This record gives sequence, C-alpha cells and structure tokens, in this order.
Amino acid sequence: MIKFLDLQKVNLTHQQEIENALLQTFRSGWYLLGEKVKTFEQQLSTYCNVPHAIGVANGLDALRLIFRAYIELGIMKEGDEVLVPANTYIASVLAITDNKLVPVLVEPDLETYNIDIAKIEEKITPKTKAILVVHLYGSIVFSEELQKLSEKHNLKIVEDNAQAIGAVWNDKKSGSLGDAAGFSFYPGKNLGALGDAGAVTCKDDSLATCIRTLANYGSQKKYVNQYQGYNSRLDEIQAAVLSVKLPHLDSENQRRKDIANRYLAEISNTKVILPGHKLDKNSHVYHLFVIRTENRDTLQKHLEENGIQTLIHYPIPPHHQEAYSDLKDLQLPITEKIHNEVLSLPISPVMTDDEVSAVINSINNF
Ligand SMILES: *Cc1c(COP(=O)(O)O)cnc(C)c1O
Repeated sequence: MIKFLDLQKVNLTHQQEIENALLQTFRSGWYLLGEKVKTFEQQLSTYCNVPHAIGVANGLDALRLIFRAYIELGIMKEGDEVLVPANTYIASVLAITDNKLVPVLVEPDLETYNIDIAKIEEKITPKTKAILVVHLYGSIVFSEELQKLSEKHNLKIVEDNAQAIGAVWNDKKSGSLGDAAGFSFYPGKNLGALGDAGAVTCKDDSLATCIRTLANYGSQKKYVNQYQGYNSRLDEIQAAVLSVKLPHLDSENQRRKDIANRYLAEISNTKVILPGHKLDKNSHVYHLFVIRTENRDTLQKHLEENGIQTLIHYPIPPHHQEAYSDLKDLQLPITEKIHNEVLSLPISPVMTDDEVSAVINSINNF
C-alpha cells in the first residue's frame, strides 16, 4: 500500500536529532516563551529573509492575528473587504470572517489553481483593504502586476504561506513577498511539527509588536493588558523540533520537485490534466501534486484498487460549506469545476522511486 503521506517515515528520517531536541526541552524545565522559540524565530526570519518572525499556535491563528493586528493598528476596520481565492482551504476564509472582515471570493486560474490576478481589479471597492494570496498546493502566486495593483489601491498583501514554505519567486522566498504572511507547521505540511504550530512573518516593526502582543493575551508586560488578546503561542517543544527540521527543508523540497518532475514527464494518460504553472520551477514546492480529470472518482477508486492512496484538496469549496451559507448563491464555475475534478497524488520526501513508478503506471493504465 502506497500511503498518501507516511508521516512516521518523514519524521523518523531525523529520529536522533528530534529525540535529542525533545529530551533536552523536556529536561530544561522551560516550555513556553523561551530560547527554543527565539532560536526558531531567528532561523525562520533568516531563511525567509524577512525582518520579523513570530511563533504562534497554528496556521489559522497566524492569519487571524495578522488581520486582528491590522484592525488594532487602525489600518482595517469591521466590514472592510479582503479579496481571497474562492478555492482555498477554509482557514483562509475563517481568518477573515473571525475578524468581522468580509471575504470577497475571486475565481482561481484553471492552470495554476491560484487566484486569477487578472480578475482582482474588478472586485476592488472603496472598502477593499487587502488581498489574501494563498500559495495553494505549494505554488507561489505573485507578480509585478499584483504588486502594482496593491500599490495603486493601497491594499495590503497578506500571504497564506501554509503550503509553500521554501518556494522562491524572483530570488525571494514565499513569506517575504507581501506585507505579512501566515505559516502552518501542521504535521503534514512541508515543514511539519509534532502537533499544531504556526508563525507569522512581516516587515513592519509595529505590526510585529502588535501580533506578538495579541498572541500573548494582549500583554507585553506580565499582567498588563493592552489588547483583548489571545493565547496563541508556539510551544518550546515544537520550536525545538522545527529548528531540527528547517535545515533539511530545502533538500526535502528538492525531493518533492524531483518526484513532481517524474509525474509531469511520465504520466501520459490523456484523460488526466497535469498541473501547469506559469512561474519558474523554483516557485513550486509541491506540498501537493494535484491532477484533474472528469473521471476523478473512478480514477481514485482505480488507484485505491491498485493500493495507492489519494486525497481530494478540497471536496467542498468554502461558499458551499454550511458555515458560509450566506455565500451559497455565488456563481463560481471555475472553483466548482476544480473541486469536482481534482485529485492529489502521493508525494513526500520519503517516497521511493519504485513507489513513484507504481503511481505513474497505475494512472497510465487507467
Ligand atoms: C493548513 C492550512 C492552513 C491552516 O493551518 P493550521 O496550522 O492547520 O491552522 C491555512 N491555510 C492553508 C492554505 C492551509 O493549507
């Protein structure tokens, strides 16, 4: 059986280093807001070449805190609009609505699965304050045109970088392209912790201070509360694990790219549409390798019968979720087509060449 993602194998690759880090943190007696988090934050800000990195509890909180901080700083207010791709994972939308901001769903590009930059400007109103770009499946969405749009309309660019850590556009890492970015270190992400974990990166000093304060009960000084904040901190133990794994990220992402290149070169079944992308090859770190076919459910069944586990990212778009029944009448045909046709193939740094061949053969025999 070829698993979609063998997390045990992924983490056992670093067994000795991770076990040392866990034991050392356990024995240190210090579990929150300590040296491990500080060290990881420095590593991450250096890795992304961005002035600030702030460890938080998870990826959703990272995004939530960015918008909350913009509200506290008077840059956004309740009822303001945030443009977001309609086919994103629910967390992107939750981060907006949790702050009583209004998500304005924009159709994706059918080739990249990312927000269609050409469709952004028509959605901008006087209330629009930000574009939440989601580097979906590990592929960066960014362009000079996007940058110019944001300058022209005075919009913040927030990156949902949960899936694309390590991807590069014009020599810049994802997470350093916009004004602020949210990262997830959910165990299955390209850089995964042993539980929930996340981070924010940003350029602006006051934004960074505000986010750090909000994530710690709205307090900079113990028992003095400036904001009605949250408890959203990165655990020392998770930071210690992430510090072990970050130096290996580039080589693990390279393995993902090598697998993706084999899929792209060797899958020849004409019923299957392979992911194209318009950016250069370093801009995709293949968190997911997503194909599309009108016969998605039968292909998934065929692969399962051949011992290959696949997943669907995502079966139901946000505007068709019960949680967002107010959005249910939106007409988003490209988004709906994507949700009906996509299938994610196994991909991970620990997949063997034989496993990759088996997936390719099985799809070509379909
Ligand atoms: C995983 C993910 C998140 C949320 O991260 P968590 O750590 O699970 O809260 C947000 N956006 C996208 C696109 C994701 O894939």
